[in-house]
Amino acid sequence: MRVLFATAELSPLVKVGGLADAASGLAKALTSSGVDVEVVVPNYGNWATQGDDDRLDVPDWVGGATAAQIEVADFGPVTAISTPSLGRPHPYTDDRGQGFPDNDARFFGFSAAVARLVELRNPDVLHIHDWHTGSSLGYLRQSIPAVFTIHNPAYQGTTSSQWLQTFSYRPNAYEWFGNSNPLTGAIALSDAVTTVSPSFAREMLDGQHDFGLEGPLKAKGDRFTGIINGIDTSVWDPAVDEHLSLRYDSSGGGAKRKIARELIDGLGWNLGTEPLIGMVTRITDQKGVDIALEVAQRLEHIPARMILLGSGDASLAARAQHIADRNPDRFVFHDAYDEGLAHRIFAASDIYLVPSRFEPCGLTQMQAMAYGAIPVATPVGGLCDTVFDEDASPGEGTGFLAEDVSADSFLDALQRAARMWRSTKKRGQMRRRIMEIDWSWSASAERYLDLYEDLT
Ligand code: ADP
Repeated sequence: MRVLFATAELSPLVKVGGLADAASGLAKALTSSGVDVEVVVPNYGNWATQGDDDRLDVPDWVGGATAAQIEVADFGPVTAISTPSLGRPHPYTDDRGQGFPDNDARFFGFSAAVARLVELRNPDVLHIHDWHTGSSLGYLRQSIPAVFTIHNPAYQGTTSSQWLQTFSYRPNAYEWFGNSNPLTGAIALSDAVTTVSPSFAREMLDGQHDFGLEGPLKAKGDRFTGIINGIDTSVWDPAVDEHLSLRYDSSGGGAKRKIARELIDGLGWNLGTEPLIGMVTRITDQKGVDIALEVAQRLEHIPARMILLGSGDASLAARAQHIADRNPDRFVFHDAYDEGLAHRIFAASDIYLVPSRFEPCGLTQMQAMAYGAIPVATPVGGLCDTVFDEDASPGEGTGFLAEDVSADSFLDALQRAARMWRSTKKRGQMRRRIMEIDWSWSASAERYLDLYEDLT
């Protein structure tokens, strides 16, 4: 089975969010299952390539495109596509966090190049991810079994209808309320559509969190499914994690407190018998950062201390900093994207917050569990498939779920988590339970492989 696998992000090469982790975790697991996966990414960094470049016969408006191999440490060989507009310091945004105005041309150009690469390579299946690669199906000149995975339908890349003229294949599939939409076009033209958890697939079909896609997805019938993401357990494992000064596994809880003390060194905090709460996130409405900030203002009532690491929306970040400045003895905010600090926060945290308003899958609740931090989450999307409330089935839960998406319910769930955490015995049992769950990609990769085999 040969699969051409195109994505705008890939860990550890280029990562903005979970798409990068999901793409690399799935590609690695498929490779381990014997699939011949060629991963294709945009060459954002004019990265040094190896061997000869393949010149791709793209339309003139792309300005030329080449494909060449790069070697990614901790991943392997990847095909990088270069066009004149792809190389920028950030994949999507300028230094003020604004999306580049030509992102449509950049990613439509990337997609046109992917379509030409398909002709060169002739794989058994084309697997594309999110809107950035969605228009590749409209640039194909031959039919090929195609899988489209929606990681986050909030981003659709909708742009001017003028782009419809550039498509060689069924341009009307990309027409969307007078505009051109690479995401809805890919839904229409692919043979199978997946999203990243079964619960989120249901929420999209029942219109709860469908972002206007309920109709196109219903039209796919049983060719639309939800397959839960995994995490890369070679990266997310506290027993081997190089970002940690101490390594630990499910048998020892003492290391977590030591890592926590290192992390809060200099803050003047004495954790005593209080839990440390962590959260690592993009700062956006989606992630319920406002709900987390409600928690941050009520920490003395839990009682607990809290570390938030995140970057993104400037006004939410300013609010977080303001609250941190007023509560320096209980709350600290790191306005950054910092991979190493993220690992240390997961390791140091006793309780981990995931107050998302919607969540296609969510990876951080799984990362938290792998590091023995008890997740408290809202009951949405993939969080419902991974966090099972301890009070609903005592002794079997994997965390605590709020009743709904509101600050009050979330605080209630957090209080329940803190109460349980105060029992050393129950805390130890839950920590061991959640750390021993297999969050690896292997089962889900098998499901993707079944899908590929069905299509071929
Ligand atoms: P999304 O893709 O919507 O941002 P996910 O939970 O699916 O959310 O994945 C987010 C990924 O990015 C996780 O691997 C998480 O650990 C990481 N991450 C998010 N914010 C930061 C940050 N500020 N610093 C380091 N890693 C982060």
